[in-house]
Amino acid sequence: MEKINSSSSPSDFTTFRTCPLCEATCGLEITYKKGKAVSVRGDKKDVFSKGYLCPKGAALAQLHDDPDRLRHPLIRTGSTFREASWEDAFEYIENAFMSIVEKHGRDAVAAYLGNPCSHMLAANLCGPIMLRALNSKNIYSASTVDQMPRHVSCGFMFGSPVSIPVPDIDRSTHLIILGANPMASNGSIATAPDFPGRLRALKKRGGRIVVIDPRRTRTAELADEYIAIRPGSDIFLLLAMANVLFAEKKIQPGRLAEHINGLDAIEKAVVDFTPESVQNACGIPADVIRRLAGELAAAENAAVYGRMGISVNRFGTAANWMVDVLNILTGNLDRPGGVMFPLPVHMPLETKPDKRKWLTGRWKSRVKGIGEIKGEFPIHTLCDEIETPGKGQIKALLTVAGNPAISLPNSARVDKALAGLDLMISVDYYVNASTRHAHVILPPTGPLTTAHFDIAFYNFAVRNIANYSPPDLPKPSSEMDLWEILYKLSAIFKGLGAATDISVFDDMTIENLVSNTAGRSEEILTSLKQYSGPDRILDLMIRTGAYGDGFGRNPEGLNLEKLKTHVHGLDMGPLKPRIPGILNTPSGKIELAPPLFIKDLERIASELIKKETQELLLIGRRHLRTNNSWLANIPSLVAGPSRCTLQVHPEDAARIGLTDGGMATISSRTGTLTVPVEITQDVRPGVVCFPHGWGHDQDGVAMKVARKHGGMNTNLITDEAQFDPVSGNSMLNGVPVTVVSAA
Ligand code: SF4
Repeated sequence: MEKINSSSSPSDFTTFRTCPLCEATCGLEITYKKGKAVSVRGDKKDVFSKGYLCPKGAALAQLHDDPDRLRHPLIRTGSTFREASWEDAFEYIENAFMSIVEKHGRDAVAAYLGNPCSHMLAANLCGPIMLRALNSKNIYSASTVDQMPRHVSCGFMFGSPVSIPVPDIDRSTHLIILGANPMASNGSIATAPDFPGRLRALKKRGGRIVVIDPRRTRTAELADEYIAIRPGSDIFLLLAMANVLFAEKKIQPGRLAEHINGLDAIEKAVVDFTPESVQNACGIPADVIRRLAGELAAAENAAVYGRMGISVNRFGTAANWMVDVLNILTGNLDRPGGVMFPLPVHMPLETKPDKRKWLTGRWKSRVKGIGEIKGEFPIHTLCDEIETPGKGQIKALLTVAGNPAISLPNSARVDKALAGLDLMISVDYYVNASTRHAHVILPPTGPLTTAHFDIAFYNFAVRNIANYSPPDLPKPSSEMDLWEILYKLSAIFKGLGAATDISVFDDMTIENLVSNTAGRSEEILTSLKQYSGPDRILDLMIRTGAYGDGFGRNPEGLNLEKLKTHVHGLDMGPLKPRIPGILNTPSGKIELAPPLFIKDLERIASELIKKETQELLLIGRRHLRTNNSWLANIPSLVAGPSRCTLQVHPEDAARIGLTDGGMATISSRTGTLTVPVEITQDVRPGVVCFPHGWGHDQDGVAMKVARKHGGMNTNLITDEAQFDPVSGNSMLNGVPVTVVSAA
C-alpha cells in the first residue's frame, strides 16, 4: 500500500483505493487527518478513471463513519435487539441452525445474496464456499431482479454465463444503447469509469450514439438520436433489425463465420418479424427500424449494448440474446470497436476445457417446480417457498448485504414472509427494512478497514485492468472482516462448530483449492503462506491466471505482491480478440440459435397479436446519487428535493386529470402507492416512471437519515407473478398500472 504521510504525524496520510460502490471501479484519493478520512477525491493517477469520481464515491467516508452502521453483532430480544459478543452471536446461530436442520433438513435454510455482494472480494470468493457448506437448494440472489437474462443468453451462446462481451466504447464509432442510462449509472456490465466522458469522446471522434429507451434519459440527451420505445418491447425491435439484415443481405459475420452455428436457424426464426409486423408493438415506425439496421450494418465498427431496461421484463433473455445476435451478424463481436470479451488478471487465458453443455433447470423448486438458473432459484418464488407448508419449507433465511423487503417485487408479501421465519441471520451494516426481522445481525467491518479488489467487475471492464486496495485503516479488534464472518458461518453449516478457529478453516479451504495442482500443491501452499482469506485465493488466481507468474514458471509474470506495488492500478491495455479460446460450448462454436431461445419465440410472437390496452406501463429510473437501496443513509446522497416523483407525460396527465406537483394514486395487482406527480415530456405517452430503492421508514429501521428521506417503495406495486420464464428474472419494467388523481 502506498500511504503518503502528509505531516510528521503518523495518523495524517493519504491513500489511493478503488471505490467499491458501483461497477465503474474509480480510483479514489483519500486524505486522513488524525486517522479519520477527511476528504475523498478522484485519483488523477488512476490508470482507468484518471481522476473521475461521482457523488457516491465522494461519500465513501460518510458510509464508513456512519453512526448508524453497526459495529457489534445484534441478537433479537422480543421486538428489539441487544448488542452481543461475536461468540454469543455465533453460538446462537449454531444452536438455532442445527435445531432447524435436524427437524426440517438443509433445504429449510435458504440464503439470499444482495447486490453489494458482487462488489466484495470476500463475498465473491468466500461466499461460494459458505453456500457449499450450507448445502441447501434454496439459494437466491438479486441477480434475478437484475442481470440474470444476460447470464443465461451468454451461457447458452458462448458456453459460460460469465463470458459476457462488453461494448468497446473507447474505440467504437457507432453505439446503440438500449435500456441503459450510463450517464446516471456510470455503466453496468460494462465497467468504464467516467462512462459519460467516454461517450463524449466517442462523439468527438466522429462516432454516433443512438439511445432507445421509453424515457429521455440524460444519456438520451447526449445521444445523436433518441428513440422512444414502448417498455418491454425491445425484443420486437431487435428481431426486426435481424430480419432486415437477412432480407437486405447485410449479413457479414467476417472472421466469426467459421465460429458460429445456427445461422440458417436464425434466418428462419426472424423471418416473420418484419418491421411492419412489430412497429405497433414497439412503437417505432418500420422505416426507422430499417434505417437502424442499415446504419448498424454500414458502421465501420459498432456495438449494440443493452442493460437493465431490456433485462427486467418478460422477454429479457430473448432481448439479450438478440443483442449479441445483431453484434455477430454485423461482424462486431470480438473486434476492436465492437463488443469484446475482457481478460482480467484473475482469469486463465483459455476457458476450462469443460465441454459439457451449460444448462438451466438442473433441479426444481419445491412449490412451483421452477428450474434453477446458475445454481439459484429466481426470487419471484422465494415467498412461495417460505409460506407453503410441507417438507423442505424454508424456515430460516441467511441474507448477506441484501434488502429483499425493498428490492423484490411485491415487497409487502416479502416483508410479511420475512416476519414469519423461525430464524433470520443477516450479515449487514444496518438494521434496515429487511434485517429488522433478523434474529441475529452480523456486521462486517467498514469499507475503509477492509481490502478491495473488484473481482466480478474486472470481468466486464472495457480495458484489461487490475487494482488492489489493502485496508486504509487497521480493523478494530472488536470487528470482523466479511470473510471471517463467512468462514465462521461455513464452519457452523459444515457441522464443525462455532468454536472453529477461522485460520484453521482458512488453511483447509486453500489446501482444498490447490489439491489438484499436479504434484505442486506443497510448493504452491508455501508460496501463498503470506496471505489469508480472500487475498490468498486471489493470489492463487492471479498467479495461475493469464498474466500470472505460474508460481515460478513465468518469473516476469504477475502475483498479488507485484500488483500491490501498482497503487494507481495496472493497465494491461485495450481488449483483445478472444474467440475461439473463450468459447466453451460442446461444439466449440458460438451457438446462435439455442433451441430454448428459438422455442421462446412462439411466446414472443403471440404477444404481437395481443390487443393493445389503455393501461399505463410503469418503468423505473436511476439517479447518479443512488445505487439501488444501499446508500440511503448517506446525508449527501439523499439531500435535496425528493426524487420520488411519478413522471407522467402531459397527454396522460391531461387525460387522467393530474397536475404537476399534485398527488396520484398508482395501483397494480399487488398494491397501491400515493405519490407526487411530475409532468414531463421525458417519458413517452403511455409510460409512467418512478425510481426504485426507496421506502425506509418502517417500524424498527435504525437508519435515521434514510427514515427521514424515506420516499416510497416502488416494489409495493411490482408483481412477482410477472417474470421472464427463461431466466426467471422478475419484470420490473413495463408493469401495467392504473393511475388516478389523489387530489
Ligand atoms: S462512478 Fe461508481 S466507482 Fe466511480 S466514484 Fe461513483 S460510485 Fe464510485
